[in-house]
Amino acid sequence: MTSIDKSWIQLKNRASMEYMDGVRKFAQYAEDNVKDEDGKIRCPCMVCSNVCRLTIKEVETHLLHKGMRSDYTKWVYHGEGDDEDENEDEDDDIEDENETGDIDMDLDDMLVVLNDLMPP
Ligand SMILES: [Zn+2]
Repeated sequence: MTSIDKSWIQLKNRASMEYMDGVRKFAQYAEDNVKDEDGKIRCPCMVCSNVCRLTIKEVETHLLHKGMRSDYTKWVYHGEGDDEDENEDEDDDIEDENETGDIDMDLDDMLVVLNDLMPP
């Protein structure tokens, strides 16, 4: 998963291009990850604090007018997980170990390689 630039959350000027662009990206991210059948997501604005569920359009308006909570930098209510990813990494490590065990090199082959690198 590509990490998203969230520096815009801290911007004081909510009329700036960066902030509006960030709100749009957040809306897109939430839509891709957590939109329910009724098209609603949790609103992370100052007033709703991820308690109210609104349509994405309404959430965008809230973020532009009221502002996103500046401490909501990990979007756990909008599809950004943490623990699951770590478990997946552990599985990958085990697979890597098995692959390394399969690689067998004969001593003769090794000597040939050494001779090639350092001719007598
Ligand atoms: Zn709101």
